[in-house]
Amino acid sequence: MYPAVLQLLTCPICSYPLTATADEKSCRCTGEKSHCFDFSKSGYLNLLCAQAKEGDSKEAIQARRLFLEAGYYQPLVEKILGILRQIPSHSLLDAGCGEGYYTNQFAVDGRGVLGIDLPKTGVDYAARRAKQLQNRAGFAVASVFQLPVADAGIDVITNLFAPCAEEEFSRALKPGGHLLLVGAGEKHLLGLKRAIYEHPYKNEGRADLPKTMELLDTVHLSYEITLESAEHIQALFSMTPYYWRTSPKDREKLNGIQTLTTEVEFDIFLFRKGQKL
Ligand SMILES: [Zn+2]
Repeated sequence: MYPAVLQLLTCPICSYPLTATADEKSCRCTGEKSHCFDFSKSGYLNLLCAQAKEGDSKEAIQARRLFLEAGYYQPLVEKILGILRQIPSHSLLDAGCGEGYYTNQFAVDGRGVLGIDLPKTGVDYAARRAKQLQNRAGFAVASVFQLPVADAGIDVITNLFAPCAEEEFSRALKPGGHLLLVGAGEKHLLGLKRAIYEHPYKNEGRADLPKTMELLDTVHLSYEITLESAEHIQALFSMTPYYWRTSPKDREKLNGIQTLTTEVEFDIFLFRKGQKL
């Protein structure tokens, strides 16, 4: 793991800093008990103490990888990178990093990037990708509600389509640190919904926006995408929160569709933590 990223992590048991062992196969905390954690083959750390529900299934993660790597959401990445360039930062934590599609692209401009999420399959893939890219991103399995990082140690937290743990983010951010949240805009994937439902409804905005931080900016990004294969259409559908709520009869409507054009719309919110601790 990139040293500057490992430096951000703390022991999930006693909260002391972690340092790599001489053979770099594991790391130990500097606390009295010297707790030890092994790096996985791909290079991530499992810092989850209690058993937790994994969240996304393997299939869901694979579908998301297939869809994202086709580049449909690349304009979102560019937009976020543009915002991040305005904020001088050495450390960025991506809370709810999934399979690291965004996280690995945030590891530019000299900053160290730490990705945290629960599903091991996603984190493992993210770490393998970081190894290939030889970038400054590192990954750990942990909950965004219990981040294995020190108080007030992080410059920027990103939180894309993942639960906002406001209190925990506030603890982890430096005074004056930034939180960038992304949620689906109201017309996001309306074209996909039209193909499935008789009366497609618009999305409601994120209901979990922080209340104790200052909102600096809201950026809307919308454009159209055309999916040119049944595989991509199914992958996108399975990424949506309404996939599991759709009846088999409605799901079948997508079978046989080879091409689909839909709006995508994102709301990007930039918050700042107060200067006081
Ligand atoms: Zn420890």
